[in-house]
Amino acid sequence: MQSQQKYEQKLSLEFFPPRTEKGVEKLKTVIEELGTINPEYMSVTYGAGGTTQNRTIETVEYIQTQTAFDAAPHLTCIGASEESVLELLDRYEAMGIKRIVALRGDLPSGMMDPGEFKYASDLIAFIRQERGDTFKLEVAAYPETHPQARNCDIGIKWFKHKVDQGADSAITQYFYNVDSYLYFIDNCERSGIDLPIVPGIMPITNYENLIRFSEGCGAEVPRWLKCRLESFGDDTDSLKAFGEDVVTELSQRLLDAGAPGLHFYSMNQSAPTLNIVNALTFKNT
Ligand code: FAD
Repeated sequence: MQSQQKYEQKLSLEFFPPRTEKGVEKLKTVIEELGTINPEYMSVTYGAGGTTQNRTIETVEYIQTQTAFDAAPHLTCIGASEESVLELLDRYEAMGIKRIVALRGDLPSGMMDPGEFKYASDLIAFIRQERGDTFKLEVAAYPETHPQARNCDIGIKWFKHKVDQGADSAITQYFYNVDSYLYFIDNCERSGIDLPIVPGIMPITNYENLIRFSEGCGAEVPRWLKCRLESFGDDTDSLKAFGEDVVTELSQRLLDAGAPGLHFYSMNQSAPTLNIVNALTFKNT
């Protein structure tokens, strides 16, 4: 973990672009409430090849120009053309955006043409070639190995390749097993990967959603945790309280081990993230 301990521990937040007017108004309140934890930036997800892309741009523009916080748009390259990426980069540069979360994304079902970029590493190389150091580039990392990687060594190999194209920092897929992160960092160190790798933290608020989402993205919900969560049935208050304890402990253990901060998948809710963050002790405070 030595490579990670040299960084100041910072917080960042992730939102998805709301689908309805009501959601837009709610997110404004959530941003205000979560702003109290002083995040380094607020990122906004982007639907690969989907119809939600304009909503991402609108949400990014709101955060960047109407609040005191720095927005970091996610940008997925699967299905995109070089021209469409350049257009988006121009729009973001004009808004004053300084950081992008650069991703491959997943081809939506039914869509066959991957476009001009095959992997996130192609996108990173392209942005660096076309825009130099205009943007700080965040990339995705997978302590429990990306579902399409044949094994964890191959996953690390392609992760290193992506980092070598010019990534500044990485955010992990969420996980509930501290050891998977520590082991991943050790493997990265052995492979000569040297950049902040910030754990992604998913608060637990709903059993069914968590299980469905985790199956889709290859994040493991340990058996003991599944059993306990399932046992709460319809008692959502108890589930949330238990989930909060579990994720607070996970987060504190990561900070104590020297993680370079935490990135919260807020799911556009303020209370779960706020309650966890307010219970944590950071090395630099
Ligand atoms: P890559 O780094 O390109 O890796 C994809 C797979 O290809 C891996 O298995 C890797 O090992 C393999 N690989 C990489 N390079 C090569 C190569 N040259 N040859 C052979 N194999 C290779 N999805 C969205 O749609 N929108 C979002 O906003 C979004 N935000 C995310 C934020 C975070 C922090 C994370 C962790 C994930 C996010 N995702 C998002 C999900 C992500 O798009 C998927 O996990 C996707 O399957 C992989 O994207 P990637 O950028 O990690 O891809």
